[in-house]
Amino acid sequence: MRAIDGRAHANAISRELATDVARLRVGGVTPRLAVVVPTDDPATAWYVRTISRLAGKVGVECVVDSVAGADRSGIVSRLAEWSGDPTVHGVICQTPLPSGIALADVASAIAPAKDVDGANPVSLGRLADGLEAYPPATAAAVLEILRRENVPLRGADVVVVGRSTVVGKPVALLLIAADATVTVCHSRTVDLAAVTARASVLVVAAGRAGLITADYIRPGAVVIDVGTNPTADGGMVGDVDPDALEKAGAYTPVPGGVGPVTTAMLLRATVTAAKSARSADAS
Ligand code: NAD
Repeated sequence: MRAIDGRAHANAISRELATDVARLRVGGVTPRLAVVVPTDDPATAWYVRTISRLAGKVGVECVVDSVAGADRSGIVSRLAEWSGDPTVHGVICQTPLPSGIALADVASAIAPAKDVDGANPVSLGRLADGLEAYPPATAAAVLEILRRENVPLRGADVVVVGRSTVVGKPVALLLIAADATVTVCHSRTVDLAAVTARASVLVVAAGRAGLITADYIRPGAVVIDVGTNPTADGGMVGDVDPDALEKAGAYTPVPGGVGPVTTAMLLRATVTAAKSARSADAS
């Protein structure tokens, strides 16, 4: 069992981005990401600082727009304003949202061309149709890790645990596009272990600490643990029981696996959006 170093992958992506951004800046374009933050949730604030820090490192400008207290229409109008700003290339809306508001209620206000975290339902639809779209950054990170680790996907038995719009479904769509044979499990799956134990690649995004024990893992499988579950002592654990990991061939640790790559992929999508906007201007 080998721990996959998500931080090293994130650093490699960041170095590539810094080169791309330097080139764009020489051409007069500074990639700019607007982050709308609808609550004063401390975990969200921590994540937004992480995005800003990495953005600064690679040369992307990050504008944090705190709208705590805003209602649905307030959030929608901020997202629409940033979407209409020609100096902004990427727009994201941080979750959680205030209670009673779902991401899909507001994310339609993000222009698909700037939807760098794949939150607008149109982006998921385009992804399902094989059209160009930005997937949610976490889903993109899962595929990027598998690609950088040279994990064969064509025809491989891949099982995804979780069917959410932000992780499970887009991961499954991206894996299908990579020619994997994909099974999606969820909270109503009968005998989860019997299904996951077939997988040569197991992606877990359930948000249940310790859900995946040794019985659930095929010996030598690649296990991508997307789960982030807070612990009583202020730490964080994944969905996979640490004792089960010795059965895996390789696995992403929590923290230090999918998380850092997710942030890097968000910035990569912003840089891609800036490049596309420049090409559109030039044509
Ligand atoms: P969610 O609650 O929206 O969805 C969880 C999914 O897991 C559901 O489809 C549910 O059916 C399934 N599930 C729950 N319990 C199950 C069980 N016992 N057996 C089988 N399936 C079960 O969560 P989400 O937003 O998709 O996030 C999933 C996890 O990934 C969370 O821990 C979240 O914090 C984490 N996450 C991490 C990142 C990152 O960048 N690392 C980003 C987004 C989410």
